[in-house]
Amino acid sequence: MADRIITKDEIRAAVKEAYLQFKGNREGKNADYIPYLAGINSELFGISVVLLDGETISIGDTDYHFGIESVSKVHTAILVLKQYGANAVLQKIGADATGLPFNSIIAILLENDHPSTPLVNAGAITACSMVRPTGDADAKWNAIVSNMEELAGSAPVLIDELYRSESDTNFNNRSIAWLLKNYGRIYDDPIMSLDLYTRQCSLGVNTVQLAVTAATIAGRGINPVTGKKVFDASLAHKITSLIATVGFYERSGDWLYSSGIPAKSGVGGGVMGIMPGLFGIASFSPPIDAAGNSVRAQLAVRYIMNKLDLSVFGGQTVSIE
Ligand code: GLU
Repeated sequence: MADRIITKDEIRAAVKEAYLQFKGNREGKNADYIPYLAGINSELFGISVVLLDGETISIGDTDYHFGIESVSKVHTAILVLKQYGANAVLQKIGADATGLPFNSIIAILLENDHPSTPLVNAGAITACSMVRPTGDADAKWNAIVSNMEELAGSAPVLIDELYRSESDTNFNNRSIAWLLKNYGRIYDDPIMSLDLYTRQCSLGVNTVQLAVTAATIAGRGINPVTGKKVFDASLAHKITSLIATVGFYERSGDWLYSSGIPAKSGVGGGVMGIMPGLFGIASFSPPIDAAGNSVRAQLAVRYIMNKLDLSVFGGQTVSIE
């Protein structure tokens, strides 16, 4: 018997209120260090919640395919957790916050050659280098995309223009890849590993696909829409802890404190939150703040969590009916 019951109507109402309240917000601006992202319509805004029985609650621009960017780090972290196990990922990459921006080179130097976590650029490039089968770019790419499809319940689509835009301008990430190679933290060809990372960031997804991914993590590896087991239940809390630690870049502590939900954001404007045992939530809107988190998406997800009086640290058992 749960301590509290939340109704689906309460969730629907909170989602609608959040959408109406923040739709007109004009703070933040599109990421512009990747030229393609600067040109996306800043007005786009959508929210999706996927419950563990597969029911989806959506409002706004939830069909629009946006650049997944850093949220893809979660999917590939799951892939290498599946392929190598939790201990090997801890040893080869780490599970710590850097406290520094997502693309920091200093963080690699300060952490004594360690890429820190698969959820910042350095660790995500290392994770791409670890994806099996080693040495075969096409097979690795297929593994990355099929894993994302299994998690999201439908296939992501490569946004060619974003991939080109990002490949032409990713000088900082090229430095990271070579620095990691210097420290023995790249386990395949460095240029190929960086290219896989850049391509996975350029995959297009919508909020429903991200909310299904989040619900799969919240449901301990079972995709609630396809019913398929995507990863072993024992990995679910590992991935949620990685997200809680660094999912909102250097604002992760403030985020967790104020919203109560581990969530991963990307500079494309996506946010994906995991409420273990209850639901996955995703929101998307292109304008981001100085740390790279979508302004409207974070306002919306935080509003919904507070309105429902939920937190991963709430200490209550909750059921949704
Ligand atoms: N592809 C982007 C980069 O590496 C992802 C950044 C992000 O979403 O945080 O710069």
